[in-house]
Amino acid sequence: MAARLIDGREVAAAVRERAALEAASYEAETGRPPALATVLVGDDPASRIYVTNKHKACAEVGIHSLNRELPAETTEKELLEVVGQLGLDDKVDGILVQLPLSEWIDPDRVVAAIDPAKDVDGLTPANAGLLAHGMPGLVPCTPAGVMELLRHEGVELDGAEAVVVGRSKLVGVPVARLLLAANATVTVCHSRTRDLPAVCRRADVLIAAVGVPRLLGADAVKPGAVVIDVGMNRADDGLCGDVDFDPVSEVAAALTPVPGGVGPMTIAMLLVNTLAAARARV
Ligand code: NAP
Repeated sequence: MAARLIDGREVAAAVRERAALEAASYEAETGRPPALATVLVGDDPASRIYVTNKHKACAEVGIHSLNRELPAETTEKELLEVVGQLGLDDKVDGILVQLPLSEWIDPDRVVAAIDPAKDVDGLTPANAGLLAHGMPGLVPCTPAGVMELLRHEGVELDGAEAVVVGRSKLVGVPVARLLLAANATVTVCHSRTRDLPAVCRRADVLIAAVGVPRLLGADAVKPGAVVIDVGMNRADDGLCGDVDFDPVSEVAAALTPVPGGVGPMTIAMLLVNTLAAARARV
C-alpha cells in the first residue's frame, strides 16, 4: 500500500481531549456543565445505539446529557412541542433529534423547529443559510469532521481542485461549502454526473459521500490525491466505504479507512458543537 492512512480514531481522540478541557473551563466559569439534549422517537435499535454512543461520548468529556424518549406513535405536533420546550429550557445548550423519524412526521419541519442557537447538528435552514453565506454558525458534524481530518493532515486547500461526490444536505453540500470557504475549487457530483471517474480524477482532494459500496475505484483517483471516504455501507464482507480501498490505496497519497476514518469524527464534532453552542449562550 502506497497511501498514508488517515487515522480518524487518533484525530477524534485529540478533539475529545480538547473538548474535555473546554467543558471543564466552561463549568468552572458558569457553575454548570454544558448540556446536550437528545430526542429519540420510537425504538429503532440502530437509532438507540447512536443516541447511547452520543451520551457516552458526552459523559467522557464532562458534558451533561439528557434523553427525551418518546413513543413510536408520537405525532408531529407532540414532537414539535418537545423540541420547542427544549429550545426554551435555559439549562439545555444543544438539541439533537435523532433521525430518521416515523413516516408521518416531516423531518424538515422538525429540524426547522430547533432553536438555531442550539442546533448542534447544524441542519436547520438558519445554520445552512449562514454556511451558504460564509458566516459563522453551527456546521453539520460529519462535514466538520472531514475538514478537521484535512486540517490535521496539513492538506493545502487554497487553490486545490476538490471533488465532492454526493449532494445531500447532511454531508455533500455542507462539505462542498466548507471546501469553498477554504478557497478550494469545488466540483459537486451526484447521480446524474456524466463520466464520474473522469470528473473525480481532477481532484487533489476527493470526498466520497454517496452510500454505494466501493463505487470509486483506482480509475477515479488522481495519483497523489487525498481521499476522504464518508461512506458507511454494509456489504456481504462487512462494513465498507464508497471507495474501493485496496486499489485506491495504491494510487492515493492519503486515504481514510472505513471503519476508523470519518466515523469517529462525527461524534467528536458533536461535542465541539455543543461546547460552541454553550459558549455562545453565556
Ligand atoms: P444520501 O442523502 O443518500 O445522498 C447520497 C448522494 O450520493 C446523493 O446526492 C446522490 O445523488 C449521490 N449518488 C448516489 N448514487 C450515486 C452514483 N452512482 N454516482 C454519483 N452520485 C451518486 O446520503 P448521505 O446521507 O449524504 O450519506 C452518504 C454516505 O455517507 C452513506 O454511506 C452514509 O451512511 C454515510 N455517512 C456517514 C457518516 C459518518 O459519520 N461516517 C455520517 C453521515 C453519512 P442524487 O442527489 O442525484 O440522488
